[in-house]
Amino acid sequence: MSEFLSLEGRTALVTGAARGIGKAIAKTLAARGANIVVVDLRMDLAEEAAQEITATGRKAIALEADVSNQESVKAMIKTALAKFGKIDILVNNAGITRDGLIMRMKEADWDLVLDINLKGAFNCAQALARPMMKNRYGRIINITSVSGITGQAGQTNYSSSKAGLIGFTKALAKELGSRNITVNAVAPGFIETVLTEELPDEVRDISLKLTPMARFGKPEDIANAVAFLAAEESSFITGVTLQVDGGMVM
Ligand code: NAD
Repeated sequence: MSEFLSLEGRTALVTGAARGIGKAIAKTLAARGANIVVVDLRMDLAEEAAQEITATGRKAIALEADVSNQESVKAMIKTALAKFGKIDILVNNAGITRDGLIMRMKEADWDLVLDINLKGAFNCAQALARPMMKNRYGRIINITSVSGITGQAGQTNYSSSKAGLIGFTKALAKELGSRNITVNAVAPGFIETVLTEELPDEVRDISLKLTPMARFGKPEDIANAVAFLAAEESSFITGVTLQVDGGMVM
């Protein structure tokens, strides 16, 4: 019998995996046995991440793609499938913020956040839906945010994109369930990465006060939740949003 929650023989494609939460996800899935496709715009860091995984004995490649661009995603998926033959696990993690109050938010900042955070997930899931359906196996995991559940002042664009991802997760779960493909979301709370580094101290202090577990999250906290949902054993869990936020939102 194989080890509990093993990903041996699986291939996972993780977007935005050059650093932060995506990199932790890629490394954790690899540690559980999966081969990894590291997708990012930052190829210097993506190559580094792939090399770190290869050094542990798994196969890993770094591929460049802008998830908001459908042609770029299609070409990247084609290369990934040619290399590994199949993708079993898709983690839509690439995401950005362009914060600002609505009175001052530029249309371009609204569009960019929605295009990367929400349409990016659509582009990747659409490109992989057919191959996963053919294999009668798939795990799609979308990284949303507690901001998509509660809404966050100064983040109408980001909160909308993350709330959109939750609806997308449920709709796609209903479309793909009969093909043995699960679709779930993970909603991180405050996780220490480059994305949150720039936040003002008062925002950090308030976030900490609101977190019963009395600490900020680590990228590995998110990666562990993703690894659980990515496993074969999670085959009866679909359409859920798993909050990994130290109890911040309940
Ligand atoms: P990060 O900025 O450290 O990493 C994001 C990665 O995505 C980067 O490597 C970046 O190059 C890549 N990326 C950006 N745009 C891309 C594009 N168009 N195509 C391909 N790759 C692209 O951020 P992070 O903190 O690791 O966040 C990862 C995910 O987790 C995001 O979706 C974010 O919204 C979500 N999240 C983070 C937190 C947090 O506290 N850090 C909280 C909730 C949700």
